[in-house]
Amino acid sequence: MYDVLERLPEKTIKCLDKGFVKIIDCMPRLVASKEDTADLRITEAARTSYGEGTKKINQERDLIRYLYRHSHSTPTEFVEFTFLIKMPIFCARQFFRTRTASYNEYSARYSIVPDDYHIPDEVRAQSATNKQGSVGVVEEDNAHTFLAHLNEICATSYKAYQESIDNGVAREQARMLLPVNYYTQFYFKIDLHNLLHMLALRCDSHAQEEIREFAHAILSLIKPVVPIAVEAWEDYHPLRGAMKLTRLEVEALSSYEGGAIPEIDSDNKRERQEWVEKFNKIFGGDEVEY
Ligand SMILES: Cc1cc2nc3c(=O)[nH]c(=O)nc-3n(C[C@H](O)[C@H](O)[C@H](O)COP(=O)(O)OP(=O)(O)OC[C@H]3O[C@@H](n4cnc5c(N)ncnc54)[C@H](O)[C@@H]3O)c2cc1C
Repeated sequence: MYDVLERLPEKTIKCLDKGFVKIIDCMPRLVASKEDTADLRITEAARTSYGEGTKKINQERDLIRYLYRHSHSTPTEFVEFTFLIKMPIFCARQFFRTRTASYNEYSARYSIVPDDYHIPDEVRAQSATNKQGSVGVVEEDNAHTFLAHLNEICATSYKAYQESIDNGVAREQARMLLPVNYYTQFYFKIDLHNLLHMLALRCDSHAQEEIREFAHAILSLIKPVVPIAVEAWEDYHPLRGAMKLTRLEVEALSSYEGGAIPEIDSDNKRERQEWVEKFNKIFGGDEVEY
């Protein structure tokens, strides 16, 4: 038997200044031959429903790609992963929104929080077009001031936290003194179907840069374990290589005979802008705004 995790050069990937993602386990873990990957479990599960009727598509890769194209997702739920993750609390708050996973987090009621907080390498500027996003970096002076505040607040907070614990304040209340850039750790278990859904959202450019770093680390850890499923996801997921077109967009595209971007039948500015972005993605045009 072969351990599929042996395919990984490293089982831990560092993220941010003090965080990491470590793969703990996966299911299936043991496979019969060195060439097999955990993708095998997807096809095994799928064949219970397709049985002998899959003769034409019974090649593993073809079958997985077929399943993905047709949203036949249940077989991917038979592959599971467990990770140990260390990330700042403000990232974990976003991460835990994935409800289709199991978590077990370090208890700051039970144990003392270590003096580990995140200090960014660069200080990003607020985006003018995306209220949830950032773009470029702020001027050096402003970055310096922000980092000085952050370091000072963290040092003062931790000192007050320790002092309060020494004075007998319960750990569950003393932690109120700590800011959200303190690191937490948790175990995270999820099946492949829901993990790929989560990675599509959190690897995307709309997600916060810090959480993207963790999502990309998870992606690089699972890729050698389920290469065929990841390849299908890259090819067919609308937030990866594929694209979802609305009826209005299909109509505009079907009447397109070259030249300027065809109009879609909508006066909604955002919808029209999304169409321009998709059109440019297909035809490789410049970024234009309506
Ligand atoms: C870029 C970005 C910005 C975001 N901004 C915000 C924000 O400003 N504020 C905020 O609160 N959240 C925000 N979120 C979180 C977001 O709304 C989702 O909660 C999060 O991404 C989890 O997605 P999910 O529900 O699809 O995943 P999961 O919880 O893993 O669920 C997977 C799928 O299971 C199904 N499902 C699970 N539970 C239920 C249920 N109870 N009922 C019905 N179907 C269910 C759904 O189909 C769901 O898509 C943001 C997320 C992203 C990626």
